[in-house]
Amino acid sequence: MSASQADYGVRFGIDLGGTKIEMVALAADGSLSHRKRIPTPADYTATIEGIAGMVLEAEQVLGLRGSVGIGIPGVISPTSGMVKNSNSISINGHHFDTDISARLQREVRVGNDANCFALSEASDGAGVGYRTVFGVIVGTGCGGGIVVDGKLIEGPNRVAGEWGHVPLPWPTHEEIPGPQCWCGQRGCLELFIAGPALARLYGGPDARDAHAIPARAAAGDERAQAALATHVDRMARGLSVIVNTLDPDVIVLGGGLSNMDHLYTELPKVMKTRVFSDFVSTPIVKNRHGDSSGVRGAAWLWPPPAPR
Ligand SMILES: [Zn+2]
Repeated sequence: MSASQADYGVRFGIDLGGTKIEMVALAADGSLSHRKRIPTPADYTATIEGIAGMVLEAEQVLGLRGSVGIGIPGVISPTSGMVKNSNSISINGHHFDTDISARLQREVRVGNDANCFALSEASDGAGVGYRTVFGVIVGTGCGGGIVVDGKLIEGPNRVAGEWGHVPLPWPTHEEIPGPQCWCGQRGCLELFIAGPALARLYGGPDARDAHAIPARAAAGDERAQAALATHVDRMARGLSVIVNTLDPDVIVLGGGLSNMDHLYTELPKVMKTRVFSDFVSTPIVKNRHGDSSGVRGAAWLWPPPAPR
């Protein structure tokens, strides 16, 4: 653990997901010099060994020692030091950060995957030039992260930005009490705005694929148009509360649903009716790094190496 940041010639970013582990090496100029992807092993020890193997192999190929940052679903509990809320992967209930640090003989930084997304976009993505960045992931689930002046805000409970597990704001009678959430609460925002929720709004036999709905709406499918309108309204309600509490300088959208172009024009219109202000100027923009934001943000858990 004695190696200082100056000893590192490259930054490794690793995205640990339920099905795959992806790694990149981020050079000082932000370019990617190495990429590797392996299937996520089923058990914990194999996961640690898989990650260590990727790093050590890359260091041999590149001839450089690197800092290591890892994005995970879920968080490391500030009280137990163990991973929690990490759905369906083997690191839950383990001291993952200390175990991987010991295996790689250096301090490894571990962050929530939505926080890594926000950090990536704030550092050299769509959030560059904005002081307070709220990064949002809306895909199969819903997460968020806050970066202020280039610094990730995690908070004492490590839940800053977790806007998916708050109640849907300004609910209608039909939206109360809402479905049961995997987190233990009812009516969480995630259950109303993530991909599966949009697919359910559309309903019918084609309800599994939310991504096809905008094209159907554009082709005149009224059921698709109604589903998108309700979804936009719910998402705007959720983001309006973020503006009322944090008032970020920019909101960057990521995850599968961020590819739906109507969000960028329609969300601001609805938010104007909800935010506690007579105007809303917050830009809502699409991410720059797409699927690479997770791995890039994990690398950004460490600052860039000093020029040599
Ligand atoms: Zn929840």
